[in-house]
Amino acid sequence: MTVRNKIFFFYKKEDSILEKTERLKALANSEGFEVVENEKEANIIASIGGDGSFLQAVRKTGFRDDCLYVGVSTLESEFYCDFHIDDQAGMMSAIKNEQIEVRKYPALSVNIDGQGSFYCLNECSLRSSIIRTLEIDVFIDDLYFETFRGDGMIISTPTGSTAYNKSVNGAVVDPMLACYQISELASLNNNHYRTLGSSFLLSDNRKMTLIIKHDNSHYPIIGMDNEAMSIRHCEKLSFELTDKRIKTVKLKDNSFWHKVRRSFL
Ligand code: NAP
Ligand code: MN
Repeated sequence: MTVRNKIFFFYKKEDSILEKTERLKALANSEGFEVVENEKEANIIASIGGDGSFLQAVRKTGFRDDCLYVGVSTLESEFYCDFHIDDQAGMMSAIKNEQIEVRKYPALSVNIDGQGSFYCLNECSLRSSIIRTLEIDVFIDDLYFETFRGDGMIISTPTGSTAYNKSVNGAVVDPMLACYQISELASLNNNHYRTLGSSFLLSDNRKMTLIIKHDNSHYPIIGMDNEAMSIRHCEKLSFELTDKRIKTVKLKDNSFWHKVRRSFL
């Protein structure tokens, strides 16, 4: 078993968080962890904040699969955060009493114009940058599937299914399923344009390709989790679920469905 003892804290340098994080660092030190200031030296990365902070921590540290990510929330209970910053004693006792387990979440890979791949933990979203619609040819593996015309599309992972995807009526997906979901943003459906109209799931051994039809002034805004990409001209996006797994620590009696119930019901 790998010895994990070098911990890096990822947090916003805000007064309300700083003081609590300092206490958490002291606690980690006293429990035998080494708090490192350079994330590259760490084998545990703890994000302090909400789900948005967790997404940033994973993105800014390069989607490392050789590290354990830990979400510590400062607000309520979050999807990626099983621990609360005000319950430091609970956190330590959970670790000591083996009340925790490791979950592996697959990352979605997005290849843009064959140039390079980017990872997403929640979703990749494409939206028209102007008032006019986007037109996109959708291929599943080598099959031409449909031509989408509308505001955009959301391609989400199972853990991202409770975020943007859910706001457009996509299904909530159990993260134990290795798949990704495609949801539409306001598709035109009439006698000229036809799309499936409902969200659909693709398995981890399928590839989806989007070919964006262009005119010069018109390009999509591409979002990867909570960041907008600066790429303007892109024609072809290919999606796959990667073998890359983001490892995160969770409490044993706090399943995804506990979180769904707590957050939405
Ligand atoms: P934000 O726009 O400030 O907040 C989006 C909200 O979504 C926050 O409350 C955030 O939680 C929550 N969230 C993030 N990931 C989630 C998940 N996997 N399951 C359930 N809720 C989740 O942006 P942000 O906090 O940086 O989060 C980025 C995410 O916002 C994007 O990945 C996208 O999914 C989502 N988003 C949603 C919409 C929409 O629903 N119309 C539009 C754009 C983006 P915290 O408060 O804990 O951070
Ligand atoms: Mn939240």
